[in-house]
Amino acid sequence: MTSLLIKNGHVIDPANKIDGPADVLVIDGKIAKVAKAITDKADETIDAKGLVVTPGLIDLQVHVREPGREDKETIETASWAALAGGVTSIVAMPNTRPVADNQTVIEFVIKRARELDLVNVYPTGAITKGEAGHELAEINELKNAGAVAVTDDGVDVQDEGLLRRAFQYTKTCDILLMSHCEVNNLTDGGVMHEGWVSTQLGLPGTPAAAEDLAVQKNIMLANMSGARLHLLHNSTKGATDAIRAAKKAGAKNVTAEVSVQHFALSDEECIGYNTNAKMYPPLRSRDHIDAIIAGIKDDTFDAFTTDHAPHIEPEKLEPFIDAAFGSTGLETSFAVMNTYLVEAGHIPLSKGISKMTVEPAKIVRINKGTLSVGADADIAIFDTKAVWVVDAKKSLSKGKNCVFDGKKLTGRAVTTIVGGCVKYTKGQIVGR
Ligand SMILES: [Zn+2]
Repeated sequence: MTSLLIKNGHVIDPANKIDGPADVLVIDGKIAKVAKAITDKADETIDAKGLVVTPGLIDLQVHVREPGREDKETIETASWAALAGGVTSIVAMPNTRPVADNQTVIEFVIKRARELDLVNVYPTGAITKGEAGHELAEINELKNAGAVAVTDDGVDVQDEGLLRRAFQYTKTCDILLMSHCEVNNLTDGGVMHEGWVSTQLGLPGTPAAAEDLAVQKNIMLANMSGARLHLLHNSTKGATDAIRAAKKAGAKNVTAEVSVQHFALSDEECIGYNTNAKMYPPLRSRDHIDAIIAGIKDDTFDAFTTDHAPHIEPEKLEPFIDAAFGSTGLETSFAVMNTYLVEAGHIPLSKGISKMTVEPAKIVRINKGTLSVGADADIAIFDTKAVWVVDAKKSLSKGKNCVFDGKKLTGRAVTTIVGGCVKYTKGQIVGR
């Protein structure tokens, strides 16, 4: 029997409505007790005085790049970055090389993550073969191999007839479909949000309508069969309004997320042709950000993610128009949420934690994200007052392309525990 006791912390466990001083006792990798002043003797004791203790964070949208683009990231380096951010479970996107449109790739990701024994990695499979948008993948095979969802993330399924059939199929297999909402005919050639800033910079923009239309289309088609739909990385006022309306109309099959950069930063980050600010969906103008924050406050949005998208340096040194889309984010997501939502006075910390733990767990139906007795002891300990400046060069991810590079943030993971084992503490991966 092994035991670990976390003493004197402020525990936030939204699933059990805990938000106050408490100790946490872990026995054999499971939560054994959460209570004030636990006196049991333990093999290891952590003093969390002045710190916040939460379930380990869950990120629904991470590009691990392995197999195929190990120059950008591996499951191992993505796991290190996750641990440094207090993230204990990641959902891996299928746009690897080869694409995860068959059971072999799904099985590889599961096996590799198990060998590494760092964080929990949940693979997703592709909706269409090769994410090419022409022919459905063997969705049931992907589910049986262990995929928690199917998605063509990176692109949207453009053919509405095919997308409708995909929803019918995922409904029958009872698997979640995650949509990256984009109408290609409208975004064609755009490299940032279409608006005042894109005009000033002389760069082709993608209109918000490209996302609005795709979100509406996805909701309509999912509702035809009642399939479970999760809308990835929403960034516009139109998307927010459409999701809010669907939920008001009683669509229990629809969930939605915001990637943290989209409530934190605007399209003005692109000024100076900063390629780290190039991503899809693009950073939007202030009016969209205000709408997104209103949607967070009224729970139109269920979860926060990173859309962690590491790239090699040359791909971001290209001129803005040619540079790769995406930013890393696993190490900064908690701090970004804490800085731009909690410190800014928009939401209490417990709501932010809820959208990064129990809510994402419900979406992909994994038994994680709580400190309930008997649950896997995946725990993060944060210093919510720590002020730091992001230095992407020091990132544990292979990708140094972080849009928050050089920004001052408040809040940082101190210790990250997976299955009762301390995997990260005081800036170091344990055993590395
Ligand atoms: Zn995407």
